[in-house]
Amino acid sequence: MYKYDPSSLKAEEFINHEEIMETLAYAEANKHNEALISEIIEKAKLRKGLPHREALVLLDCDIPEKNEEIYALAEQIKKDFYGNRIVMFAPLYLSNYCVNGCLYCPYHAKNKHICRKKLTQDEIRQEVIALQDMGHKRLAIEAGEDPVNNPIEYILESINTIYSIKHKNGAIRRVNVNIAATTVENYRKLKEAGIGTYILFQETYHKESYERLHPTGPKHNYAYHTEAMDRAMEGGIDDVGIGALFGLELYRYEFAGLLMHAEHLEAVHGVGPHTISVPRVRRADDIDPDEFDNGISDDTFAKIVACLRICVPYTGLIVSTRESQRSRERVLKLGISQISGGSRTSVGGYAEPEPEEENSAQFDVSDNRTLDEVVNWLMKLGYIPSFCTACYREGRTGDRFMSLCKAGQIQNCCHPNALMTLKEYLEDYAAPETKEIGEKLIAKELNNIPKEKVRKIAEEYINNIHNGQRDFRF
Ligand code: SF4
Ligand code: SF4
Repeated sequence: MYKYDPSSLKAEEFINHEEIMETLAYAEANKHNEALISEIIEKAKLRKGLPHREALVLLDCDIPEKNEEIYALAEQIKKDFYGNRIVMFAPLYLSNYCVNGCLYCPYHAKNKHICRKKLTQDEIRQEVIALQDMGHKRLAIEAGEDPVNNPIEYILESINTIYSIKHKNGAIRRVNVNIAATTVENYRKLKEAGIGTYILFQETYHKESYERLHPTGPKHNYAYHTEAMDRAMEGGIDDVGIGALFGLELYRYEFAGLLMHAEHLEAVHGVGPHTISVPRVRRADDIDPDEFDNGISDDTFAKIVACLRICVPYTGLIVSTRESQRSRERVLKLGISQISGGSRTSVGGYAEPEPEEENSAQFDVSDNRTLDEVVNWLMKLGYIPSFCTACYREGRTGDRFMSLCKAGQIQNCCHPNALMTLKEYLEDYAAPETKEIGEKLIAKELNNIPKEKVRKIAEEYINNIHNGQRDFRF
C-alpha cells in the first residue's frame, strides 16, 4: 500500500488513491457545512491558494448562497491577478502518427481510416507563415508519440524551423511543446531548443482507469506518464503545464488529482505548474463522447474553473476551441487567462484548408471563428487580447516568474505588454473594425497603468509601433 506523500517522486505516493478517496468523502460529508465552507472562503480570500481537501469542499459545496460567494471570489481573484487581459495562442499539429492506443483520441494506432500526416520542414514553414499572417506570436506544437516517425530530432528541428521564420513583421516568439512523456535527456534537449512551457495532460489521475483507457503503447505506463513533469524539471524545464481530460473519470477525482499534482511540484521543485488546462472530451473521427460516462455539464465546468482560480491563483488557466463561444465567455470571467483562437486541429490546415476526405483532426472544433473575430469579440466583452511573450524572453520562468507574480509586480509588466502587443496586432493584421475598437481600447487602458513612469514609456513604445518599429517589452 502506498502512503500519501507530496514530496515523494513516486506517482502513487504523490497522487495517492486513498488520499483522494478520503478527500472525496470529506468533501461529500461537508458539502452542506456552512461554517466550514465560510471558513475556507475566508482563507481563500488571502489569495495564497488552498490545499486539495479544502478545495474539494468548495467544489462540492451545495449551498446556493455560498456558491455565489465562490463565483464572486473567483471573479475577483481573476481581476486582481490577471486584470482584463487574455493571452492568445494557437496549436500547431506537426504529426498524427502515434503508437499509443488511447481510447478517447482518434490518433490511436488502431484507427486505420484517419488520414496520417506528418509535416515536412517546408510544410511547417507554410503553416507558420499562415499563423504569423493571422497575427499569432505564441504556438503550442503537438505531435503523437512515434519514435520512428516523430523522434525527438524531428521535434527539435521543427522548433528550430518555427523560430527561424521571420515573415513581414511576424515572428513566433514562444513555442510551447505538447509531446509524449520522455526522458530527462530529451527534456534537456527541448530546453536547449528554447521551448516555452512543456505541456502534458495526465488525461486521468485514476490509475485503474488510466490503464484501461491506455491499453497499448508506452503511454500505458501510469507511473512513467505521471512522473514526467519531475523529469522535465530535472532536465531544466521550469515552466510545465498540466491538465486532465474531463469526461474520462469522475470530475471530482480529476480535480483532486490536479491540485495534488500542483502541490507535489511545489513541494519538490519549489514551483507549481505554470498552467492548467481543462479540456473536455470532444467528438472526433472514431470517437463518440457519449461512450464516456463521466461527461460534465456546463455548470460543473464553470464550477471547476472557478474553484481552480481560487485554489491556484498564480497558475494560468487555459481553454481551447474545444469549448463553444458561449462556454468560453462564461469561464473567461471566472478564471481563464489563456485561450486559443482561429485554431486548426488537423495536421496542416492553416496554409490551406484540409479537404474533407482527408480528415486528420484530433477533435472537432466548437469555436470556429477566425483569430480576428475572436480578438474583436474579446475586446467587445471588455478584455484585452494579449500576444505577450515577454516573461519567457526575459528569462522570467519557473520560480523567477512566480516570485515576481507573488510580489504583485507582474501587473506592472503584463498590462503595458498586453497593450503593446495588441497594438502590433492592430497595425499588422486587424480588420478595420477590429482596429478601430482596439485603438480606442488602448487609449483608454493606457490610463490604467498605475506607475506614471511605466505609462510614459508604454505610450512612447506604442507610438514607435505605430511608426513601424516592433517588439517592445517590459
Ligand atoms: S492522446 Fe496522444 S498519445 Fe494518445 S493516441 Fe492521441 S496523440 Fe497518441
Ligand atoms: S508579462 Fe509575462 S506573465 Fe505577463 S502576459 Fe507577458 S508573458 Fe505573461
